[in-house]
Amino acid sequence: MVPIVQKEDSVLRKKAQEVPIKEITSPKIQKVIADMKKALLPHEDGVAIAAPQIGVLLRIFVVSGKVFDMETLMDEESAVSKKKRHKDLVFINPQITKTSKQKVWMTEGCLSVRWLYGDVKRATKTEVRAYDEHGKRFTRGASRLLSQIFQHEIDHLDGVLFIDKARHMEELPPEKQTYA
Ligand code: ZN
Repeated sequence: MVPIVQKEDSVLRKKAQEVPIKEITSPKIQKVIADMKKALLPHEDGVAIAAPQIGVLLRIFVVSGKVFDMETLMDEESAVSKKKRHKDLVFINPQITKTSKQKVWMTEGCLSVRWLYGDVKRATKTEVRAYDEHGKRFTRGASRLLSQIFQHEIDHLDGVLFIDKARHMEELPPEKQTYA
């Protein structure tokens, strides 16, 4: 099991370093990515994780494939079979290249801030440029939940937690959670 560090840990407050592009395919970085996926896996409500959340100060975040499964569900209104499950998406050295002017308050939680929830003002649409786990550059546009995730995760890489920006914070017991 790979533990997720909690908000009292100072590692969550430091700025993460860029990954040298040549090192992306190295065993060291591949292990960090594998550990991040492992850390996320047991959390049913977890939709994404940033490297500082496992104590690694590198600019990497992973979005769970279940986010894209959810989108497919919404689009097709059909159950997603195991075969159709989406892969986790890896973002290395991500940069927000576009942000919508429109911002809305969205409910947010965090795997490192159990069990607080609050509303954070987020751009409804963003576009992120990053490297994938093979060292290939890509650009991904996002709206709604994925856009919110991009902003939340990049905040983590800059040592920012959602509780710094949230309003209407409340503590909910695990069984009442929506996602984090
Ligand atoms: Zn978080």
